[in-house]
Amino acid sequence: MKPALAAPERALSGYGRPGATEVPAMPAPGDFARQVIAWQRTHGRHTLPWQRTRDPYRVWLSEIMLQQTQVATVLGYYERFLQRFPDVRALAAAPQDDVLALWSGLGYYSRARNLHRCAQVVVAEHGGEFPRHSAQLAQLPGIGRSTAAAIAAFCFGERVAILDGNVKRVLTRYIGFDGDLAQATHERALWDHATALLPEDGIEAYTQGLMDLGATLCLARSPNCLICPVRDGCAAAREGRPERYPVKTRKLRRGSREHVWLWLRWRDRHWLVQRPEQGVWAGLWSLPEFDSTEALGAVSAGWPGQGEALPSFTHVLTHLDWTLHPRRWTFPADVAQPQLDRIVAASAERPLVHDGRGAGCRPAGTAAKAVRAAALSFSPPRPCRAGIRRRGRGARARRAAPSASAWPPAGSAGSRTSGWPPSRRCRSGRAPRTARRPCP
Ligand code: SF4
Repeated sequence: MKPALAAPERALSGYGRPGATEVPAMPAPGDFARQVIAWQRTHGRHTLPWQRTRDPYRVWLSEIMLQQTQVATVLGYYERFLQRFPDVRALAAAPQDDVLALWSGLGYYSRARNLHRCAQVVVAEHGGEFPRHSAQLAQLPGIGRSTAAAIAAFCFGERVAILDGNVKRVLTRYIGFDGDLAQATHERALWDHATALLPEDGIEAYTQGLMDLGATLCLARSPNCLICPVRDGCAAAREGRPERYPVKTRKLRRGSREHVWLWLRWRDRHWLVQRPEQGVWAGLWSLPEFDSTEALGAVSAGWPGQGEALPSFTHVLTHLDWTLHPRRWTFPADVAQPQLDRIVAASAERPLVHDGRGAGCRPAGTAAKAVRAAALSFSPPRPCRAGIRRRGRGARARRAAPSASAWPPAGSAGSRTSGWPPSRRCRSGRAPRTARRPCP
């Protein structure tokens, strides 16, 4: 089979390196698109629920959910979302808390907020119909160039290139593109290559084929070049080092932080606070947060009831190791309601609400989920479930060192403090390795 492109050493020599002046040759469209389309039709994925439709609402929903998230994770969310919000008008009319509650566990919650805003814009400014061109779609909240192109290609047959993470990997390898994608000029150059490779016909199968190749064969760490349909023309396969592509030098700078979370309990109630609109889990409900045990101690001094320090754990986010020190305070069941209201009102800067099982307030489903998750998180890890895998993408929790500060503070009414690690062992005799994550 004839290689589709010029030899990479000639086409891309020095490209992307400091001082390089040579501009790479644009790849000539050749067998690549035909091979991708033929492979997709026989070996690609055809049974995913969002492939059985040209409804832009459904395709858009799937594309947003699939950003940074694997297909297997998305499937259940996609079905539930469509049951609750069968069309863009239903989604636009829903309270944001309901949208976030259904999104709970998928992570990257800005996607859910943008999804909601986008639905409202489509209804308010486009009469409930998605625009038919990628350039217009890309103007909508949360829809980037690649997502817009995918929607336009799948729903309206527009001949336009996509360039998500998987496709970048396939294309940089195929053409031997070693430009640093951390630089906008190189990213633009790759877009040009992607456009030059587009087929004249069959854009839907081609687009899906690129996605399928990246997801099933051209994997980041162990690409299956031997059975890849474009292997004969692939520069990276010829070099024997496909893993070196794509080149991206800018690494995410990770940080770390610690907080104390307060789990207030009275009878069957738990109290939550809505997080600020910026930052981690923006706008979601979580347990009230304090900068330190001392800060919590200052607030909780003199409270009736009993406090307990629960196992600390580290929640690993994409950009952050977040160590949380949960502290549970249980008020006596017979404490007077006015006293309780005063205590709760003074406990945090933002208003606290309980989880809706009493009268008076009705937080959204996210709150109840957070409490359920918190209750699981802060229980000692279940026996015999060592190495529990976290649900959701990119997030996992691990046990952390206990907080150095004592709590409850000396002199407060409550005094019970649990140690860590918990003494409980599983039946196999192994200590549990992980704490459950606190919030989906
Ligand atoms: S031959 Fe290998 S490196 Fe090249 S596109 Fe196929 S799987 Fe990726």
